[in-house]
Amino acid sequence: MNRQATGKGMVEWDGALWLSDPEDRFGFRANWKVNRILYRETSAFQEVAVVETDGFGKALVLDGIVQTTERDAFIYNEMITHIPLATHPHPEQVCLIGGGDCGAAGEAVKYPSVERVDMVEIDPKVVEVSLTHLPEISGGDPNPRIRFHYEDGAAFVERQESQYDVIAVDSSDPVGPAAVLFEKPFYRAVHRALKEDGMMVCQSESPVFHPDVMKRVHDSLRELFPFVRTYLATVPTYPGGIWSFTLASKQVDPMASVVGERLQDRDTRYVNRDVLEGCFKLPVYVKKLLDLKK
Ligand code: SAM
Repeated sequence: MNRQATGKGMVEWDGALWLSDPEDRFGFRANWKVNRILYRETSAFQEVAVVETDGFGKALVLDGIVQTTERDAFIYNEMITHIPLATHPHPEQVCLIGGGDCGAAGEAVKYPSVERVDMVEIDPKVVEVSLTHLPEISGGDPNPRIRFHYEDGAAFVERQESQYDVIAVDSSDPVGPAAVLFEKPFYRAVHRALKEDGMMVCQSESPVFHPDVMKRVHDSLRELFPFVRTYLATVPTYPGGIWSFTLASKQVDPMASVVGERLQDRDTRYVNRDVLEGCFKLPVYVKKLLDLKK
């Protein structure tokens, strides 16, 4: 019999502590066996926790939802940064919205051409906790090229004009404070904030569990950008494993402008030239969902 323990999503089950997804989708929910709760506090925005899982190492958990784990953070963080940074003509000014675990920012500064990464995270607690309790993902002491801004990403982007080469939206799911980051007014502001050959990328959820979100993101960006390319990766931590990213570009088609040599010496564990070229190849059900030709 399940008994609700303290903390969002925590249940005791057969004498062990489990973190259970707060919601199911199509009757499916992930459960994580947890050895220890290392940190848990409620910030102004959400419950922020770090747990030691039984098999995925330490995990960052927001409102009971696992955001990233030591075992597979590298896949997601590399996919959301290296794909735009290895296809943009010359990335110098980068803006990251969300991404409080700091893993994506650490990937972005691996490019010598990147002069500055503006990291706009709504919740300072997530950054503080990740730097302190999750150095394996955050990298510990941040690189001096990363500048932290603690505010709503939508409000920040609204004030920018022709400022950035790449904007990456590393948000949590489209509920609570992140909901605004999946809406058209935000995308219009991102378009304005990009330079004339700028690109944006966002995590766009699972094609299996959130096809509605993925389609809405794709179609909204198609109204603004001439090139919109969805790509996929397998991130075991996220429901169903398969995860989507949507890349939108003002001038160059990311699929035709792979600058694979840039990946050399980037010290990656997942992205290489093969992944860069192959991630844009989509299966039939995804092409159908997005109304793309076979
Ligand atoms: N890789 C993770 C995933 O896909 O689940 C998400 C990484 S990161 C932890 C997501 C961050 O977005 C959180 O730290 C959250 O506080 C932040 N966030 C949510 N809404 C935001 C907003 N409107 N502006 C800026 N940051 C936001």
